[in-house]
Amino acid sequence: MDSGIQASEKIFPPVLLYHKVTSVPELGITRTTSAGFRRQMQFLLEKGYKLHSLSGLADISEEASDEPNSSIKHIGLTFDDAYSSVYKNAFDVLSEFGFSATVFVPVNYIGRRNDWDPGRFMMKFDHMGKGELKEWISAGNEVGCHSASHQHLSLVSKMDRYSEIEGAGRRLEDLTGSKVNWFAPPFGWYDRHVLDTVQEAGYYGTAILRKRKTTVCPPELTLLERRTVYLADSFSMLQAKIDSGSSLYNIEQIRLGLIQAGSWGTVAVQALKQQKEKLYKSG
Ligand SMILES: [Zn+2]
Repeated sequence: MDSGIQASEKIFPPVLLYHKVTSVPELGITRTTSAGFRRQMQFLLEKGYKLHSLSGLADISEEASDEPNSSIKHIGLTFDDAYSSVYKNAFDVLSEFGFSATVFVPVNYIGRRNDWDPGRFMMKFDHMGKGELKEWISAGNEVGCHSASHQHLSLVSKMDRYSEIEGAGRRLEDLTGSKVNWFAPPFGWYDRHVLDTVQEAGYYGTAILRKRKTTVCPPELTLLERRTVYLADSFSMLQAKIDSGSSLYNIEQIRLGLIQAGSWGTVAVQALKQQKEKLYKSG
């Protein structure tokens, strides 16, 4: 039983993952420019794709057998961290093209800057505020929970894990008045404790980056891989991310492994900061 594949695991169409949509330059590679994002959505529209929030996609997957001959190809669209730039630069494009998406919100940072991210040479970015999230939902989009404080969940105690997963989701529901069905762990990292807590909290599914072969998912929970879109991605790379199995996609998987390894730098700085805060409090 170490394959990580569950008999009850649902088959989902591919899901894309974006972060910031901004033309403001920064060192990170997970942003997409505003013009680039519009061009990519136009490309996907012309290729016959329709992009959906994760709950929208789950509904379609269940109804898929009703329309087997449809020429529309359904895929999922997500944005991690709920940056204001998504509201400013992607929201109108989605409405214009009839697409919807899920943004994953670090709940403690609603309407605040991304102080959870110690890197980026002091450059700070705003997260969406309550009003923006509500407007996002009323247009047919979805919010998911991206923990409370965007900490690596391997660094937190059992009690804090509950508040980061269950508590944060409840607060997001209270704030937006909308059901929160999906959880995305910060940095895409998870283990069985995280999955059990997500399942006990009543989420429908967890959106991650890559499946860990040695971590078995509770059968009631949907574990969904996503494909990150990077600044330098061409149309053919975007297409390769949708058509998994191509050689370009396999190269991409290796690159993702390296980037995930790199995110431990952010995690290490977060851990040091926490340690310093604890010492300061106890001293
Ligand atoms: Zn994140």
